Amino acid sequence: MDDGLTIVYTGKGKGKTTAALGIVLRATGYAKKVCMIQFIKGSWHYGEMYSSKRLEPEFEMVAIGKGFVGIIDDKSPKVEHERIAVEAIKISTEKIHSGKYDIVILDEINYAINLGLVKIEDVINLIKTKPPKLDLILTGNYAKDKIIELADLVTEMKEIKHPFQRGIKAKKGIDF
Ligand code: ATP
Ligand code: MG
Repeated sequence: MDDGLTIVYTGKGKGKTTAALGIVLRATGYAKKVCMIQFIKGSWHYGEMYSSKRLEPEFEMVAIGKGFVGIIDDKSPKVEHERIAVEAIKISTEKIHSGKYDIVILDEINYAINLGLVKIEDVINLIKTKPPKLDLILTGNYAKDKIIELADLVTEMKEIKHPFQRGIKAKKGIDF
């Protein structure tokens, strides 16, 4: 069974991006080539931005987004986010069809769809036309039914407890 899988990590609980990064650690151990495209986090700093360098050349990370639309520290107009989202889909399509990778991760793509930045049709098309052997991982809460239907593996992270509920802020090395 060397058919590629479509994997979805969704749900409210913490661990979606972390789970995808766990696969990066595992797969690069076998010298598999992995590309992670970050749809939302472009203007922020995350530990994986730095540790990814240590997994090069097997691992490549591409940050495209510009923070959440209308939330937190976002100052860019929506049209700007939409333009970047179109660019992100173009880059994802290129990476998926490049033949250079065993695994492609579209991090936070489900949020990008829900924010109306990325068209669901474009994502469905990416899943349906991916090279048969390529594993494709999509993360972000609120995964659309159609994407869940097309996927082979879907895990919903369920929040039972989160320190955020007690007012504890995001922790370096754990949350970012
Ligand atoms: P992680 O990157 O830690 O695996 P995630 O991918 O499941 O989290 P996102 O929705 O991408 O979750 O969250 C982005 C940021 O918000 C991360 O810093 C994450 O740790 C934090 N976070 C995730 N889930 C929750 C939650 N239920 N409450 C508060 N903060 C959260
Ligand atoms: Mg995430």
